[in-house]
Amino acid sequence: MRQKTTLHCPCGEFLRGADEDELVAVAQAHLTKEHPDLDYSRDEILMFAL
Ligand SMILES: [Zn+2]
Repeated sequence: MRQKTTLHCPCGEFLRGADEDELVAVAQAHLTKEHPDLDYSRDEILMFAL
């Protein structure tokens, strides 16, 4: 299965990782910093990822 490596956050931020693990880490760091009220699991993040 192709790895998902990019995610366009609804706030307009474009997030990118070298692979799915890194993308999830980048996205969770972004959520913690910019959207502390949101809490997404790895599966949920990858559902929105491209
Ligand atoms: Zn965002």
